[in-house]
Amino acid sequence: MNLKKPVYLDNNATTPMDPRVLEEMLPYFLDKFGNAASRTHSFGWEAEEGVDVARENVARLIGAHPQEIIFTSGATESNNLAIKGHSRERNHIITVATEHKAVLDTCKNLEKQGTTVTYLPVLANGLIDLEKLEKSITKQTTLISVMYANNETGVIQPIKEISAIAKKYGVLFFCDASQAVGKIPVDVISEGIDIMSFSAHKMYGPKGVGALYVRKKNPKVELHSQIDGGGHERNMRSGTLNVPGIVGFGKACELCREEMSAESKKLNNLRNIFENCMLELSDTEVNGADSPRLPHSTNIHFQNIDGEKMVFEAGSDVAFSRSSACTSATLEPSFVLKAMGLSDDVIHNSFRFSLGRFSTEEQVDYAIKVISKIVKRHRHEGNY
Ligand SMILES: *Cc1c(COP(=O)(O)O)cnc(C)c1O
Repeated sequence: MNLKKPVYLDNNATTPMDPRVLEEMLPYFLDKFGNAASRTHSFGWEAEEGVDVARENVARLIGAHPQEIIFTSGATESNNLAIKGHSRERNHIITVATEHKAVLDTCKNLEKQGTTVTYLPVLANGLIDLEKLEKSITKQTTLISVMYANNETGVIQPIKEISAIAKKYGVLFFCDASQAVGKIPVDVISEGIDIMSFSAHKMYGPKGVGALYVRKKNPKVELHSQIDGGGHERNMRSGTLNVPGIVGFGKACELCREEMSAESKKLNNLRNIFENCMLELSDTEVNGADSPRLPHSTNIHFQNIDGEKMVFEAGSDVAFSRSSACTSATLEPSFVLKAMGLSDDVIHNSFRFSLGRFSTEEQVDYAIKVISKIVKRHRHEGNY
């Protein structure tokens, strides 16, 4: 078998760039190098035209108007802009314990400045309790921040129900949709999302470019800039636009729009094959199995193995991610799985496998073989 190894099953961390995206970007590094803000010559116009086309493609993928798209350096920056930049006449924010650090750390920062933050717990299946959400709203609540799909478990929150609650109380709804956009249909209008972040490198585009959708009417959302100077992006995010990156992001969105439905079917099929083979090993569970989940990703707990050793042994054959992170000397269990009520032991032996556009049946078969072999060896030899 001449498979290139290791096989990449960590697409939730980042996706490889699609060669068609690179092709679209290349001219903007050389011939079309202009500053999109230069209004007096063709170099500027050419760059601006590239950005305009990209903005249309990005907006179209999520059902937005091009003017509602603010380009940023990625979802981390978009999250900061949304949470720090929305009007804070009222000072209570509601978010969830399983959000990405780019949301949680931003909220913690605001807490130091006097904002009150409610961190909603999740149920064992990873979903929030809608009744708890509604009960936690006060007269001071200004923003509800809930992610679309979780990066570790793939669990998809009930977005329409959340937005309906936000609307009922006149609270803005911000959604970090970095793992969902380009993978499953996301529509800001029908789903009632007011502000939404996403990132190019999670959808086969380049790293270092992302977007924030900021609703223009019903209601019109106003955000205070976090980076000043020049008034780019409707005064919300200054700085010379990353033209090649934005052009690549636009192409990535166009490709996702065209190919998402066939691609997600294919990947869901492969993911299910992988998952079922892992479950056949017995003493294996899928974390968040009973919830709506992203089609291409899975988080699996293997009983009676040595998680540390598994990563080490599989490393040169399959690239995936462990649900615990090594911080200097200690093993930090994933706070996402912890919030779902899983014990440290379970978390230490839980792993995320995420497929992507370039995953093949051959790669998945190989990963199944490698992981099964390791799990069986750990159990039979009893060396755990
Ligand atoms: C990757 C990711 C981010 C961070 O995006 P960057 O563009 O890398 O800054 C934020 N939220 C979620 C859910 C993510 O998966």
